Amino acid sequence: MPWNDRVMMRLLRVAIGAALFASAAPVRSADHAGALITTGELRTHVETLAADSLEGREAGRRGGQAAGAYILSELKRLAVRPAGDDGSFVQDFNGQYRNILALIAGSDERLAREIVVVGAHYDHVGYGNKANSYGPFGQIHNGADDNASGTAALLELIEAFADSEAKPKRTLLFAFWDAEEKGLLGSEHWISHPTVPNASIAFAFNFDMLGRLRDRNVEVYGVRTAAGLRRLVSERNTGTDLMLTFDWTQRDDSDHWSFYKRRIPYLMLHTGLHNEYHRPSDDVNLINVEGLRDVTTFCERTIAAVADSPSTWTFRSTCSSETNDTDKRLSTPQAQPPSRLGVRWDDAAGGRGEFLLTTVTNGSPAEAAGLHVGDRIIAVDGVAPADTAAFRRAVLSAVKEVGLTVTREELTREMPVRLAGDRVRVGMTWRLDDAEPGVVILRGVVVGSAAHAAGLQVGDRILKVTGRSFADDAAFREAFTAAEPSPELTVERQGRLWTTKIDLDAPAEPMP
Ligand SMILES: [Zn+2]
Repeated sequence: MPWNDRVMMRLLRVAIGAALFASAAPVRSADHAGALITTGELRTHVETLAADSLEGREAGRRGGQAAGAYILSELKRLAVRPAGDDGSFVQDFNGQYRNILALIAGSDERLAREIVVVGAHYDHVGYGNKANSYGPFGQIHNGADDNASGTAALLELIEAFADSEAKPKRTLLFAFWDAEEKGLLGSEHWISHPTVPNASIAFAFNFDMLGRLRDRNVEVYGVRTAAGLRRLVSERNTGTDLMLTFDWTQRDDSDHWSFYKRRIPYLMLHTGLHNEYHRPSDDVNLINVEGLRDVTTFCERTIAAVADSPSTWTFRSTCSSETNDTDKRLSTPQAQPPSRLGVRWDDAAGGRGEFLLTTVTNGSPAEAAGLHVGDRIIAVDGVAPADTAAFRRAVLSAVKEVGLTVTREELTREMPVRLAGDRVRVGMTWRLDDAEPGVVILRGVVVGSAAHAAGLQVGDRILKVTGRSFADDAAFREAFTAAEPSPELTVERQGRLWTTKIDLDAPAEPMP
């Protein structure tokens, strides 16, 4: 065995020995494929790849080559097909770097011709220098999070898909990119010299830094590159309960860029930057291994959903001009409608079910009806509101006029009030978005309305009405009306799905 292989294998034995000694018994998670993704194996992979003996895995150097050797030894254990050059797992390039590629064939006759690339770079910056490190330079940059964590996830994902009876419909190509830290060289080389038929690359995943999950927050990039991705990703976030931050920025900072540039839709997952980024201190002890397991399980589900999706993954070119500012602008809440009555009250001072008026707005319906500061409203149309929310609802959902029962100086009287503005029966307005078909996105929720009482907020995505999906705006309205008086909505907020019921105490009528 040539000297450098001998050296490499010795470095490896040291690293593996250390990791195996440290790793706890594997913990199994829910479903079959998920059960194959374990903290024990993830920890072993991360500890092996981030061991000092791999010297920060600089591409083309012995540490980087040792990391490649480790990945190859793992792949040879798994039932996957080589997808590199000449029937090997390897694609050598630039004379010193090598991508490592494996494939699981799709099960659907038509869709198997389409390739879903699932990639993560395995190199890091070695001892660090001023071009690639925040310092101190000259020390081993272990790169536990960047990107031993993503590489570990990829190894577990391969095992999960390889061992799973149910094969995905599209073909999965797993890619360990080399020389990402040197300018996305590995993914750029592969995409210009693909080891599978060029025309068939339908979608790309990129996992870079998944090891530092905090507050369950995962950053998701790429959802605007094809229609329906946000929903697809959110519907896979069950049981993992991650909080997803959807970032619309197209950044050239990792391997997804090589695909995005060629108008291939992608998803990139990332648990966020931190102070150890590109420093020697990006070490194993800071890795949230349970978090990595949950994120990897979520990745497994999302990959399966993309690979099995009946719809063709078409690149949405408008995504290139969309930014987080676009998102912010579109998510600006619609102004609240003008007050229908024009009063402020203090329900604490008013006693139970009494509303002590503290303000009567000039020129308001309340003033026109003769209401005064100090009056106590005790009923609306003969009904005593249980609390402030019920009082608001009664006024908002009234057609044009209400009869108020008012106490003033111990005297109680009925006072009819002609309300301003339109009746607010449901109290939500929404917009549609071509990147999110079959979804309505709330742009206005009237304070005190039925929608507000249901806990809905601007920016919430309504995905289903009483368990039924809907294709478009008209179908949503129809489903909503059909489900009255209390439609149950499936809502997505920050990638989490929840359900709520809108209670409309008035009889059903078509939505405005
Ligand atoms: Zn990275």
